[in-house]
Amino acid sequence: MTLKNLTKVAAFVSAACLSTAAIVPTAIAAGGSAPAVDQNFKVEASTTLFKNVNVFNGTDNKLYKGLNVLVEGTTITKISDDDITVNGDARIIDGQGKTLMPGLIDGHAHIMINNNFGNVESDMDLTDMSYRASIVAERFLMDGFTTVRDMGGPAFGLMRNINSGHIIGPKIFPSGTFISQTSGHGDFRDRGDAGFSPTSAHDASNFEHFGIGAVADGQAEVLKATRTNLRNGATQIKIMAGGGGSSKYDPIDTVQFSKEETCAIVETTKDWNTYVGAHVFNDRAMNRLMDCGVKSFEHGFFMNEETMKRISKEGVYVVPQMWGLSPDLAKNPLMPKDKLPLIKVLREKYGNYGKQLLANNVKVVFASDYVGTFADAERARRYEIWWRGEAFGDNFEVLKQMTSTAGELMALSGPRNPYAASGKLGVVEVGAAADLILVDGNPLKDLSVIGGNDKWFDADPEYKKIDTLHIVMKDGVIYRDELK
Ligand SMILES: [Zn+2]
Repeated sequence: MTLKNLTKVAAFVSAACLSTAAIVPTAIAAGGSAPAVDQNFKVEASTTLFKNVNVFNGTDNKLYKGLNVLVEGTTITKISDDDITVNGDARIIDGQGKTLMPGLIDGHAHIMINNNFGNVESDMDLTDMSYRASIVAERFLMDGFTTVRDMGGPAFGLMRNINSGHIIGPKIFPSGTFISQTSGHGDFRDRGDAGFSPTSAHDASNFEHFGIGAVADGQAEVLKATRTNLRNGATQIKIMAGGGGSSKYDPIDTVQFSKEETCAIVETTKDWNTYVGAHVFNDRAMNRLMDCGVKSFEHGFFMNEETMKRISKEGVYVVPQMWGLSPDLAKNPLMPKDKLPLIKVLREKYGNYGKQLLANNVKVVFASDYVGTFADAERARRYEIWWRGEAFGDNFEVLKQMTSTAGELMALSGPRNPYAASGKLGVVEVGAAADLILVDGNPLKDLSVIGGNDKWFDADPEYKKIDTLHIVMKDGVIYRDELK
């Protein structure tokens, strides 16, 4: 490591982070215990000892008081209530009785779709989206999210540049294009663009041009779309298996992709030793997906009890953005006026969704899944943390959804997980990845200490740091250090 290299990294980082205060990995800014940086600007972790911390380990409904936690390289190597001795060049952090817990995991986000759909379609190109994505990624990490599963969008370059240390951001599990049938939830072409017959000329949408979505029909096309994503480095495959709220030509009650198409995608993904996640709302689609072996259901709001029981029995993960069933949804400026009466109906029918999932022992994972301007998405993410506390009625459950259960879902990517060498995600235990946050307060009692906020569209759109979040560490490197 040379000083020249460090200066280069610091300059690069400040140049890349124009929107917020320049954030330089603390270890670099502080000097002394600075990590090594190689020619590709990769920041290498060193040894860090957290002394006197209370630990939420991601799996137990309690804080373990007064522990010491040792991080060597990218991994947690020792946890003890006895003193841990380290050699002179280790960094020692006095946790002052604050809470050390796993870095947060967002199981469903779209970092590359960082503007409203209309603007993506008419006013942006891939460079606009990429620059904005670097800001979104950095703010995810600064909010304590050390891992994001990206469920649609060309996040491969973002992932590579974060992994190489050129950009600051979380670990990314990219899906690449979400795969949709013609007139499916990922068909964002304008009214005239699809033509009137399969052989008439048609235009692709920007969603297709940029690699956000792929429209594919029939086994040959869906397999090609799947394999293209796998070739590009997808850690899992995302398909659209039914109607949705934000697209124009697929009513919410529809089932999308035939059984043959769905099973073909799943088989070819299994051959790559990973799994398929599906956007889905209705029972018929969910049962078809389970027949084929899909492992992760995105949203899933309108399932009946029988489907829920099958989901529980088969161990499928459900990844819902609960704000979709919140009373504040009506305040969403993107919500079409004619759909407002629907909110009340859905809340009456499905208002208990969260608690029913728990009563049926379904494995649930946190999702922010707000697609729009990134300021709106960030406000939605903090609102989602708070609202989940209400919707599930149990902070411990919400924290598991953001840590250990989410970590299990990430592990389904098997050999396609680019971060496997650091260790397990979402837990504080020996051998786990050193993705850690240090917060002031007890998140089991109060989700606001990790950023939960009951304001949503009425919150200030300006990005503000979470005051109670003092340290963010990813793979043993500290990216945020505000411990006084
Ligand atoms: Zn989504």
